[in-house]
Amino acid sequence: MQTFWTNFHSHSHFCDGKPSLEEMVQAAIDQNVKSYGFSSHSPVPFSTTWNMPMDRLNEYMNEAKRLKEKYQDQIQLYTGLEVDFVSGKCGVHNFPQLDFSVGSIHFVDTFEDGTYWEIDNTKTIFDRGLQEIFGGNIQRAFKRYYDLSIEMLEEDTPDVLGHMDKFKMHNSTGNWFSEEEEWYKKMVMEYIEVIKESGVIVEVNTRGLYKGFSKDLYPSPWIIKELIDRKIPISLNSDSHTTFEITKGFDEAAELLSSLGLREVYGLWDGEWQPFGFEKQGVILR
Ligand SMILES: [Zn+2]
Ligand SMILES: [Zn+2]
Repeated sequence: MQTFWTNFHSHSHFCDGKPSLEEMVQAAIDQNVKSYGFSSHSPVPFSTTWNMPMDRLNEYMNEAKRLKEKYQDQIQLYTGLEVDFVSGKCGVHNFPQLDFSVGSIHFVDTFEDGTYWEIDNTKTIFDRGLQEIFGGNIQRAFKRYYDLSIEMLEEDTPDVLGHMDKFKMHNSTGNWFSEEEEWYKKMVMEYIEVIKESGVIVEVNTRGLYKGFSKDLYPSPWIIKELIDRKIPISLNSDSHTTFEITKGFDEAAELLSSLGLREVYGLWDGEWQPFGFEKQGVILR
């Protein structure tokens, strides 16, 4: 029995990562990854510090194509983007040329000057948006995040739902809400019903574990359990921005997923999303 890893959420110097695509591929091969997806932050129709500029998209597509051929005997490579869904502005339908898409919500409404509130920027920015846009009402702010997530799943469905509860990123230090609260649980449970209906694959994203203040996965284990109970397909991703993050947290996450009752994770293999058994050392190649 052979084990290996897969990862379909990864950044590079085309967005806010440091390494080139080729450096990421070489590191992935070294870390026993046999199927790997590029997913730089997609271009958006306004200026940000971390999205790929639109005029680099062709270069990105061409470089990914070159690497697919160069490394084809060692690793399967797929060209994707982490596509920002911004209501009425952009989403996965803008990028039909991709092998796959990760759909994420980072932008939730705008400040008075028209700039978007990025929920996963600094804690100061999170708090500023919460105060200025939502009058400090965390329930209203989360409702907006969750409404946008549902709109994306219903109107412009990606292949993979990115870090579905990223809204909680600063909560462990900000203490704005408890995940035990009824209003939060209720909205998350409704969100899960829409996820099930949409057919999207949900990623379990280890970045929160190795980078986050709360050392918690996206989504939280209690949410993962609800996904498993509903047989919603799950993929294990690292959201790597550096070469040493490509499989970071995978062993710990795999153990947790097993303990929650998950038996298979989904990955792209031979061009199709397929389920694989897994253990702490990786997914199992049949
Ligand atoms: Zn993201
Ligand atoms: Zn990402």
